[in-house]
Amino acid sequence: MLSHLLNLFFPNNCPGCGYNFLHGESIICNRCLHTLPRTNYHRFPDNPIAKNFWGKANIYAATSAFFFDKGETLQHLLHQLKYRGNSKIGVVLGRQVALELQHAPEFSHADVIIPVPLHPKKLLMRGYNQSEVIAKGISENWNIPVQPALLIRTKHTQTQTHKSRFQRFENVKDVFHLQDKQSYAGKHILIIDDVITTGSTILSCAQAFAEVPHCKISVASVAAAHH
Ligand SMILES: [Zn+2]
Repeated sequence: MLSHLLNLFFPNNCPGCGYNFLHGESIICNRCLHTLPRTNYHRFPDNPIAKNFWGKANIYAATSAFFFDKGETLQHLLHQLKYRGNSKIGVVLGRQVALELQHAPEFSHADVIIPVPLHPKKLLMRGYNQSEVIAKGISENWNIPVQPALLIRTKHTQTQTHKSRFQRFENVKDVFHLQDKQSYAGKHILIIDDVITTGSTILSCAQAFAEVPHCKISVASVAAAHH
């Protein structure tokens, strides 16, 4: 009973695997961290994430660091990050993404990191933007600043589950408004998301940068579904 109570206040189980943390572990256990399934997409410019954007937006490089499988560790971690208020998971996942992509200058040499914004309503409910927390973890490792506020989400997207691919794209079209466009001229921008599924949210972000002269846009997420 006592340990059960203590667990509530000092949770000592890994949110990825459910096992007790070993000495010195916190947030995510070492085993979970080191067995996240790598995509290695950053080594292939024609990876499925990048290809999905071809012909739709001018994106310099795109990747997802890890595979997202139903019932697997990463799904548990992202669920805790998004719906259980465990924001620290985002920072740790961000660090893992930074480690994974550190030798890929298409990502690690960006000038600024922009997390995909959450609609203010969702931000209010969740208390934080999970993509911003992930971006923070990446930023710490690479020493690149995060600028979350300059891309403003203007429309609350409806649930996308029952929509076709095209409808999904329409649904999030033009929802982002970029403030201070001029400050991004000539910059290499890295857009960060938690999961890339259809890529439509990223496309909307990229569209917001379309009028910025000579800016280069790369995209990275923690997770992507198996293609
Ligand atoms: Zn674990």
